[in-house]
Amino acid sequence: MSAEATTPGGMARDRGHRRNVLGLRRLGRAAVFGPADRPHRLPDAIEHVAQAHRRHHPGADMDILCRAYLLAEAAHRGQYRKSGDPYITHPLAVTLILAELGAETTTLTASLLHDTVEDTDVTLEQVRDAFGDEVRHLVDGVTKLEKVEYGAAAESETFRKMLVATGSDVRVMSIKLADRLHNMRTLGVMRPEKQARIARVTRDVLIPLAERLGVQTLKTELEDLVFAVLHPEEHALARESLRAHAARPDPLVGVAEAVRLVLREAGIAAEVQIRPRHLFSLHRARLKRGGEPGPSDFARLLILVAEDADCYAVLGELHTCFTPFVTEFKDFIAAPKFNLYQSLHTAVADASGHVAEVLVRTSRMHRVAEAGVVALGDPHRTADGEPVTEDGERADPTRPGWLSRLLEWQRQAPDSDTFWTALRDELARDREITVFAEAADQGPLQLPAGATCLDAAYARHGQDAHACIGARVNGRLARLRTVLADGDTVRLLLAPDGSSGPSADWLDHAITPAARIAIQRWLAGRPDGDPVPPPPATTPGHQPARARPEPVETAEEPAAEVPGAPGAPVRLARCCTPVPPDRAIGFQVRGGAVTVHRDDCPGAARMIRDGRPPLPVTWPSASIGCRVTLRAEALGRPELFADLTEALASHGAAVLQAEVEPPRQQRVRHTYTLRLPDASGLPGLMRAMRRVPGVYDVSRAAHAR
Ligand code: MN
Repeated sequence: MSAEATTPGGMARDRGHRRNVLGLRRLGRAAVFGPADRPHRLPDAIEHVAQAHRRHHPGADMDILCRAYLLAEAAHRGQYRKSGDPYITHPLAVTLILAELGAETTTLTASLLHDTVEDTDVTLEQVRDAFGDEVRHLVDGVTKLEKVEYGAAAESETFRKMLVATGSDVRVMSIKLADRLHNMRTLGVMRPEKQARIARVTRDVLIPLAERLGVQTLKTELEDLVFAVLHPEEHALARESLRAHAARPDPLVGVAEAVRLVLREAGIAAEVQIRPRHLFSLHRARLKRGGEPGPSDFARLLILVAEDADCYAVLGELHTCFTPFVTEFKDFIAAPKFNLYQSLHTAVADASGHVAEVLVRTSRMHRVAEAGVVALGDPHRTADGEPVTEDGERADPTRPGWLSRLLEWQRQAPDSDTFWTALRDELARDREITVFAEAADQGPLQLPAGATCLDAAYARHGQDAHACIGARVNGRLARLRTVLADGDTVRLLLAPDGSSGPSADWLDHAITPAARIAIQRWLAGRPDGDPVPPPPATTPGHQPARARPEPVETAEEPAAEVPGAPGAPVRLARCCTPVPPDRAIGFQVRGGAVTVHRDDCPGAARMIRDGRPPLPVTWPSASIGCRVTLRAEALGRPELFADLTEALASHGAAVLQAEVEPPRQQRVRHTYTLRLPDASGLPGLMRAMRRVPGVYDVSRAAHAR
């Protein structure tokens, strides 16, 4: 964290810098190009790091770590933390956190160097020359953008840059999380307002990222540190509960012993541990119970076994020999959570009624549960050290669906405020759903819980979703606002190009940043570089012909039936807008579709003259009765609404529903759902509406509102 880099006793920062430069000159060659006489033993300062690293990676190359340390130490020399400690203690502590989680050597190398480019004279080019492209990428990824250049947007733009870098190498985020953990551990030296601000960003962004990347160890410690800063009173209460609990005999000890006995008798090799919950988790238990946490809230039993199958064997024994709470059973092995976490969860009571929550997992699952993506190592190489191919990259488990989505929408976010708000909203959602396509050639979509058909449309079709007019969910017509459930099958209905667009109320029904940002851009008249159609000329009699929505099948208006062309798509002609119970005829057109006209339409007469055979058309009986939705596009002016409603009333139309969208670029859109006594009055009504001054288009709305 660069803001912390300082020099002692108010010494001018540039003096510290000068000492840095001297240090770099002195040590530069050795650090950058490798010492002429290699040190036979590691500098004492990185002995802890090396020990932790060897525990996870016995054959690791310590030489590169040693070089990274020497460069970082020389570069930061003369800089101090607010606490008074030499600055190098910070990158060392961050690297130790990662080494203990089992990070591989490249991550640790970059972690030692993570603040050099931001805070010292070291450049990214030097880092690349000495340590290679991967280390350069990682250091670049966590290097902050400068306030002088980005001003107030620096923090959010830094996060955007870091997430993009994370997209190509998730190790960037591992380093950032460890960096933030050490800064949170040492937050006490900051002013209270600054502590609170950093704690809130940690809560809103970094903790959800740690959760999504499965780095449980960092997540729980960050939660407790944030808890202490933002809720000191509740934090003190939780500590007091814990103290009181520790002073009493713990019934869980007896349950654990009984479980060990049962598993031993069943011949299952297992390790049974008591895992205390962290303070924030106790706080959650208190909120859930509305009072003092119960004895089973303080810890859980963790049962570690060797093989996946053993997990189910353990479960069988537990559910046979104790009283299970079936509602507490969850199988995160068969259905892993989105963050790679796998375990069986259950709760049992022993004969005397002591309840224990139990987690069952293999040692491998345990490592992933604790360290998440950090345990997965280098995303560019397989476990055997072979480079990952293009194909393999797509299957990269460290690049989960939420990250791909995030990388997609962030490119559309027009400014840092939009990005920052959308990021926090997205991270506040903690569950994903999968929806399937009707078409076999389209894959399933991963969406956050609460997503609607609109969100699915933008996830599936990008900007083309502007033309979305409806959806079919599990085979039935559904509104665009319909909230999707896990496992739904969705088909999205799009209007022909350019004939339909978002309305302002779409923002009330889209929750994903991808959809919201695209809709906002469209409403603001910035449809991705497409020029906005200029406001039409208003000279009466010279109103430009605009593409009107192609009428489509909706729940309100079932399509006409053409028995002579079974299976052919049926379109209602735009020239005469036939509605039931109009007498209508159809013509086969290019591509096999049938266009339906009123039988007195001049266009239809022309087609008959041209020798096109008319096909008989019938309306489904359910559609008798004329309810219709019309949309008027106009330039805003006083009295417009009054004049339009008068035109409606004079044609006997009852207004069932009216919507006026807020003007943009002086244009307004009125949408009316009407009941007409007789469908034959519709063309006359639409003409009357078009004659209202300012109105430049009236069309049948393409979808039910
Ligand atoms: Mn740092």
